[in-house]
Amino acid sequence: MPRHIVCLTFNFDTQSGFIARGMTTPTPLSRGEFGLIGARRILTLLKAHGVHATWFVPGFTIESHPSACAAVVQDGHEVAHHSWGHVAPAQQSRAEEEADLVRANACIERLSGRKARGYRSPAWDLSENTIDLLLAHGFRYDSSLMGGDYWPYRARRGDQVELGKPFRRGEETSLIEMPISWSLDDYPHFEFVRTATSVLPGLQSAHTVMASWMDEFRYMQRSVEWGVLTYTMHPYVIGRGYRMLAFEELVKNLQAAGAVFMTMEEAAAEAQARMF
Ligand SMILES: [Zn+2]
Repeated sequence: MPRHIVCLTFNFDTQSGFIARGMTTPTPLSRGEFGLIGARRILTLLKAHGVHATWFVPGFTIESHPSACAAVVQDGHEVAHHSWGHVAPAQQSRAEEEADLVRANACIERLSGRKARGYRSPAWDLSENTIDLLLAHGFRYDSSLMGGDYWPYRARRGDQVELGKPFRRGEETSLIEMPISWSLDDYPHFEFVRTATSVLPGLQSAHTVMASWMDEFRYMQRSVEWGVLTYTMHPYVIGRGYRMLAFEELVKNLQAAGAVFMTMEEAAAEAQARMF
């Protein structure tokens, strides 16, 4: 029997990503604040369609917006780890990264009654210590790497790279990688971001983006008997009205096509039992 799993995942960053980048004037902060409205809309949509999702929630959001985070737990969604302050591990020392990991996990435990099973790095940039730290702190899965699409795989540590030399694979660990892609992330498709040195144009047609995301599911159905497809969204991005309409169409189309919706923790457990 073919079985095609979909994980809807929401990075509930609110203002944290802007603050981490030094964008602390009122307008960028308000842009993150819109995530509170977006989150309410998403929870309503998920409930209407009977879908449980995974919310990667920074400790910052849990401490700053406790009632919005409690609503996520109340609706039965998984809360997973997304750092405390949305600083990418690649920019931290090992000690800083571990302190941030522990601090945010304590927030998640207070919110949901248990520590996180899964981790996703801010800005998708792991450090060379991240996999080690996740294993040491009892995580089951990571969702920050791009080395696959429909099949989870075992995260490695100790890959060796040096300019001018061939790539050497490190050892596989017990941590399950639930792969992601910028192409299946709402942020680069939709967000207009201007900095001193770059412009991310974003602002694409929501229907066009969701049609591409549906095609990704169809290709998974065509190419594997069993697989997991992960979509990544941000409440302040997907929560805008015309995007919510297109997103709801996607959920309906996925359901009609036979998608099995699961949290990442459930999908990682199924991958563990089935693949490894
Ligand atoms: Zn984030």
